Amino acid sequence: SSWWKSVEPAPKDPILGVTEAFLADPSPNKVNVGVGAYRDDNGKPVVLECVREAERRIAGNLNMEYLPMGGSIKMVEETLKLAYGENSDLIKDKRIAAIQSLSGTGACRIFADFQKRFLPESQIYIPVPTWANHHNIWRDAQVPQRTYHYYHPESKGLDFSALMDDIKNAPNGSFFLLHACAHNPTGVDPTEEQWREISYQFKVKGHFAFFDMAYQGFASGDPERDAKSIRIFLEDGHHIGIAQSYAKNMGLYGQRVGCLSVVCEDENQAVAVKSQLQQLARPMYSNPPIHGALVVSIILGDPDLKKLWLKEVKVMADRIIGMRTALRESLEKLGSPLSWEHITKQIGMFCYSGLTPEQVDRLTSEYHIYMTRNGRISMAGVTTGNVSYLANAIHEVTK
Ligand code: PLP
Repeated sequence: SSWWKSVEPAPKDPILGVTEAFLADPSPNKVNVGVGAYRDDNGKPVVLECVREAERRIAGNLNMEYLPMGGSIKMVEETLKLAYGENSDLIKDKRIAAIQSLSGTGACRIFADFQKRFLPESQIYIPVPTWANHHNIWRDAQVPQRTYHYYHPESKGLDFSALMDDIKNAPNGSFFLLHACAHNPTGVDPTEEQWREISYQFKVKGHFAFFDMAYQGFASGDPERDAKSIRIFLEDGHHIGIAQSYAKNMGLYGQRVGCLSVVCEDENQAVAVKSQLQQLARPMYSNPPIHGALVVSIILGDPDLKKLWLKEVKVMADRIIGMRTALRESLEKLGSPLSWEHITKQIGMFCYSGLTPEQVDRLTSEYHIYMTRNGRISMAGVTTGNVSYLANAIHEVTK
């Protein structure tokens, strides 16, 4: 109809486009290291055993009522413990405003909208590079974006001095988006010592830290350890915000279950803030979905199931860490003169390989290997079966 004649097709999402191209390729050798979703050593998606057990317990017992606007109270309670610590005083003192969110994306978006509504003049500092959707989220929330240095291309590690300079040079009281662990797309995280320095400098400058924690447990295999950055900020008394997601660490990708939390001065403020977060959700989707929240509540509310979950998170993280070693060793055995140390130094789901867009194009056209053109390899797509093939192809295109 003529109503929509001015509508042009939206640009393709670079990551989803990679999957489409992979699916369309008939080659039996094809490898997909584009998508950020966990695969087992046979390249198959995984439903965790703890999730299967929770589903068995739900079967037949699920009512289909609406959740409250803020989502499942039980799920949120358990989720806060993972981020803030089992014995957190902030939790005891009811100083955290928290709602169930539509996974990590939804948590970021509600926070961005909250920021716009109550501090309309504020901006957000985002690392270079970052998960591409961060830009979309804060853009659509109409919060102006600034960037801060993060990745150092030569060392394929952290550009710590430039990062610290940017923190110091930002106007006092700026908002910063930080990846709590397993930075996407680089796999580069600050060390504990560096986090302490960052936290200290944030204190000096009065900055606000918003942690996006999409991979808790996926970096080290231990959710407690992966929360270290957040705990350091909490020890220093920061009033932070956190986006949490169960997409990766519980494999609940399509269930869209997560949590947004904001630390407040006291209980009264937390009640007010929570009510406003809910108010933002109400005209968008009214209340969040029930099923995934129930799965999470059952798992984290049962000590045995929680133990099983922790074991399964570690299996996933360990498989990825093992594949990092295998990929690096294969490249070294092939006699590649380049340094591949960063493959094992980086952590989490991704390896920021340093491959150029042209080299990635050759991997795709000559070897049927699919990844984003920034050279990001999803380590979760690497298996015992394809690691030699992948290493050989990378060696050939980097000769
Ligand atoms: N934040 C980061 C850094 C991510 O990498 C992702 C997923 O790829 C997300 C947030 C959000 O994921 P979800 O909305 O599926 O929880």
